[in-house]
Amino acid sequence: MLRIENVTKVYPNGSEGVKNANIHIEKGEFVFFIGSSGSGKSTLIKLLMKELNPTKGRIIINGINTTDMKQSQIPYLRRNLGIVFQDFRLLPNKTVYENVAFAMQVIEAPTRLIRRNVPTVLSLVGLSHKARAYPNQLSGGEQQRTALARAIVNNPPILIADEPTGNLDPDTAWEIMNLLEEINKRGTTVVVATHAKDMVDIMQKRVVALNHGVVVRDVKKGGYDDEA
Ligand code: ADP
Ligand code: MG
Repeated sequence: MLRIENVTKVYPNGSEGVKNANIHIEKGEFVFFIGSSGSGKSTLIKLLMKELNPTKGRIIINGINTTDMKQSQIPYLRRNLGIVFQDFRLLPNKTVYENVAFAMQVIEAPTRLIRRNVPTVLSLVGLSHKARAYPNQLSGGEQQRTALARAIVNNPPILIADEPTGNLDPDTAWEIMNLLEEINKRGTTVVVATHAKDMVDIMQKRVVALNHGVVVRDVKKGGYDDEA
């Protein structure tokens, strides 16, 4: 479903974000990318999103090598990857409903499908009652729920989140983590970059640990700093 093969990313200033990473993720998995600040988590996420291209190696998403993908094929990625960030990245002048609907409009989904799917995902994330609110009228947790709804409204097979709970208090962070698990149980492959030790320890999911850009541990089920 998702293969990172011998991937190295060297930034223009010479710093190495990721070094010779090999990570294979199967359909339906829930995977944490962990490691301290600067270990390469966001670099990996940006490579998966094709916001960055690898200096070496290749990335295969659903059988398609995205490394040499043309600009015109980028919409393919949009349909296959839902993405959530630490800072939510909602459009401030659109309501909750409109933010989520917009993700369907950009892939030119038919209006009747938009009218059907947006209320469904808002209900899934528990935000039906906030559909008409603007982002600045929402709590952090509600903003992240909106971002999650937007990320899954096109039903992507893969959901990627970079520090999705980094700006949230612990209770709210757990609500978001539980939603990610619920989305995973419905069949979506979920990849979460985080340095939230407690959460990783309690979740007991697959853990891919990075240190200075190197994958130093990859276990099927484990905590933040168990032995390899
Ligand atoms: P993490 O998300 O785990 O905190 P990053 O992937 O952001 O780590 O960073 C990994 C390494 O790549 C760090 O050494 C960082 O300084 C470097 N890096 C990240 N982004 C850039 C950039 N745009 N230009 C140069 N170096 C970068
Ligand atoms: Mg990061």
